[in-house]
Amino acid sequence: MSRAYNFCAGPATLPEAVLKQAREEMLDWRGSGMSVMEMSHRSDEFVEIADTAERDFRELAGVSDDYAVLFMQGGASSQFATIPLNLLGDKTQADYVNTGIWSKKAIAEAARYAEVNVVATGADANFTSIPEQAGWKTNPNAAYLHYTPNETIGGVEFDFVPESGDVPLVADFSSSILSSPLDVSKFGLIYAGAQKNIGPSGLVVVIIRKDLLGKARDITPTMMNYQVIAENGSMYNTPATYSWYLAGLVFKWVKAQGGVEAMGQLNDRKARKLYDFIDGCDFYANPIDARFRSRMNVPFTLADDALNGDFLKGADQRGLLNLKGHRSVGGMRASIYNAMPEAGVDALIEYMAAFAEERG
Ligand SMILES: *Cc1c(COP(=O)(O)O)cnc(C)c1O
Repeated sequence: MSRAYNFCAGPATLPEAVLKQAREEMLDWRGSGMSVMEMSHRSDEFVEIADTAERDFRELAGVSDDYAVLFMQGGASSQFATIPLNLLGDKTQADYVNTGIWSKKAIAEAARYAEVNVVATGADANFTSIPEQAGWKTNPNAAYLHYTPNETIGGVEFDFVPESGDVPLVADFSSSILSSPLDVSKFGLIYAGAQKNIGPSGLVVVIIRKDLLGKARDITPTMMNYQVIAENGSMYNTPATYSWYLAGLVFKWVKAQGGVEAMGQLNDRKARKLYDFIDGCDFYANPIDARFRSRMNVPFTLADDALNGDFLKGADQRGLLNLKGHRSVGGMRASIYNAMPEAGVDALIEYMAAFAEERG
């Protein structure tokens, strides 16, 4: 069968060229006589795979030598605890911005280790907007300020990088890493679960400013200690070797597309097309403040919820998969990360128009 357009929020679609290359190299990686999965992580072959992936990622994201790049495990969610355990140091307080479900999860986990101060919340607007920074109640004694640049479930995205002064800025870029250019130097720590824009689930990439290493609390599990992971080249234990390899193939693919500038332009165009269509058609609606609409995750509702089942069935039949919205939001959600081609968005719009015409 041919490949469908998969709009899943995560694990998400991967570039077809990457999957083909992985297939090509599956049984025998470049004459080694082994698949990457079967190699020692200490072997010259795998160390080359790992180093190349890190180099390409640094180049793509513009990461200077002031930062360590770590390939860790446990997904983005494990970072919700890893961050306070490592960054509080001799402080007790941390600032968090609450813009939706992923912020809330990060806050709940951090509250087990820190006094969490929620500096701003999108709750008053039912999380359809981002609170302007002018009204945030930040704490100069906070160990760090955490925010979620793109809320994958709600479909709201920051269009600015918060100012945090001397307080290190920490960001969960799980669903928007490498989707447009980013000034890493504004951040103390960036983390991203891999399964949206990088590769397979389970892997999480962390960019940490080196002066923030070495402050972990004694009780921090060794596997969660950034300094230990950094000193061991992300190989304190056996890393997620195959995921790391696939991430490396994705980085090469992003470079071949023209890097994050080109990805950003493509992503803007894809998102604009879809929002313009939704706004221009009475049958569909997206509730998010236009300024803060996510370029990656586009939730939308039909004029009549009773038609949701038929909409999804028809979409499946056309090879437009995983459009069902998150259970907490309902309706539909189209995730259109880097690897979703513009033709996929065009096919979705064509189907939405036909469905509205027939059933609206
Ligand atoms: C998907 C996602 C997570 C959770 O990632 P896991 O790897 O499943 O732990 C956290 N934050 C954001 C913004 C996400 O999109």
